[in-house]
Amino acid sequence: MIRFRRAMDDLLIRGGHVIDGSGGPGRVADVAVLDGRIAAVEPRSAREAHRVIDARGQVVTPGLIDIHTHSDFTLPLNPRAESKIRQGVTLEVVGNCGFSVAPALPGKAAMLREYLASSAPWLSFEETSFADYVARFPPTSVNVILQVGHNTLRLMTAGLENRPLTAEEMVAMERLLEEALAAGAWGLSSGLFTAPGNFADAAEIHALARVLRRRGGAYSTHVRDEADHGFEAVREAIAVAEATGVHVQIAHLKLSGVDNWGGAARLLGEIAEARRRGLPVDCDAYPYDTASNPLRNLLPRWVMENGIPAMLERLRSRDVRTRLRDDIARHGLTNFGRIPSWDVVRIAISPEMPDNAGRTLGDVARSRGVDPLDAVADYLVADRGATRILITSMADADVHEIARTPWVTVGSDGNALAVSGVTGQGKPHPRFYGTHARILGPYVRDLRLFTLEHAVAKMTGAAARALGLRDRGLLRAGAWADVAVLDPARVADRATYEAPHRYADGVSTVLVNGRVVIDGGDHTGALPGRVLTRHP
Ligand SMILES: [Zn+2]
Repeated sequence: MIRFRRAMDDLLIRGGHVIDGSGGPGRVADVAVLDGRIAAVEPRSAREAHRVIDARGQVVTPGLIDIHTHSDFTLPLNPRAESKIRQGVTLEVVGNCGFSVAPALPGKAAMLREYLASSAPWLSFEETSFADYVARFPPTSVNVILQVGHNTLRLMTAGLENRPLTAEEMVAMERLLEEALAAGAWGLSSGLFTAPGNFADAAEIHALARVLRRRGGAYSTHVRDEADHGFEAVREAIAVAEATGVHVQIAHLKLSGVDNWGGAARLLGEIAEARRRGLPVDCDAYPYDTASNPLRNLLPRWVMENGIPAMLERLRSRDVRTRLRDDIARHGLTNFGRIPSWDVVRIAISPEMPDNAGRTLGDVARSRGVDPLDAVADYLVADRGATRILITSMADADVHEIARTPWVTVGSDGNALAVSGVTGQGKPHPRFYGTHARILGPYVRDLRLFTLEHAVAKMTGAAARALGLRDRGLLRAGAWADVAVLDPARVADRATYEAPHRYADGVSTVLVNGRVVIDGGDHTGALPGRVLTRHP
């Protein structure tokens, strides 16, 4: 009898409970991997492989997608992406909230460095086109989708000037966007909550969205306001999809400020209604009641006009501080609304005074015996405007309501970090280490917000659909072999506000493009990730 010998697979993950990312029930099956792709998903497979991983008693899922991150600030320093890959994350979408580190046009790299200092304090900035940036993006452990940022483009075009763009500037910005898309950017992100993005009106964004529409790009947005004007801001995002047909991703959906608590169902209802009308609108969220931002963004927007040096000069003035105090008393904090006190605002990263990481601004004010607003202004001046803070501004009930909505995907809004090395400093938000594990573990087991199948689907199949990715996000033959193996009883985040630099628990194996990156819980050092583009 003639037997045809089948080629050996590279890898067989045997006997795990396979949850395929569709939201459907799991089943015990083997997952075969060959040449970077999934070769088969079948029960009791007779296939042979060079390596067999025993996954009995564990859950096998598609690699998780972190749909909203800022790891472009850290992957060049930490290409192993430890804090993410150890949760099973195999794809990060970066360049969010209007911020990208490219393009940096001739003579403008220093301006971009200063602008992004509170977010990317450790990154060196060089003049670069977006094409050079893509070409030189380092090999990383995770796959990466790059976006170009509207704030960065406007900074390159008109600096931090608060005015409409001239016709020539608009053309220049559209051209920069076209260049970025041609070079491999997935789309454009906006950050309309802060300068210079907040100087843009709807017409400017619609014009850029029409470029996206022509070139097949997508639009993601940190909306203009996430507190007292959050509903108008979400409507503004939906209107972009309505006017241009471009896919709109609303980032880190939330309701900040005590006056807005309890509004999640209504806000989700508006987005659901847009989706029912057939508009291509998606949104994501992170599972925490605390946000992270540059401290300066909490102040009224006029403080930042014409750039950081101008802001620091203003903050020294008594009269300006009086005006600040009145403004905040009347309108609450920009983007965050009314807070109970400055005790909910905690210093995360302070480049000039790193020892203050973890202290609240209420505490800083009390220990100096000064008014909190004076403490904030003094702090910003001493830290050259680069202080980053954590602010507990949301209600748990809203966070849970948003998380348990099946079509809401998951974005950490965090950077890939490592517990040692340059990115292991300060007290960053624990979401940088724990977002996806928190959804898989505590949100399923303890809060019982959804089943494990739904948790996985949010972070895989649904995320891939929102991105328009056809060959990732599901465990099925032919898809890229991005795979995670985890213990459903043990998977959990361990990072806390006090001790954020802790890896998540419970993920034993992670494959990226068919290569083993996490093996028995340890990082192999492999860097198989690549920049994903629409036209490979
Ligand atoms: Zn954002």
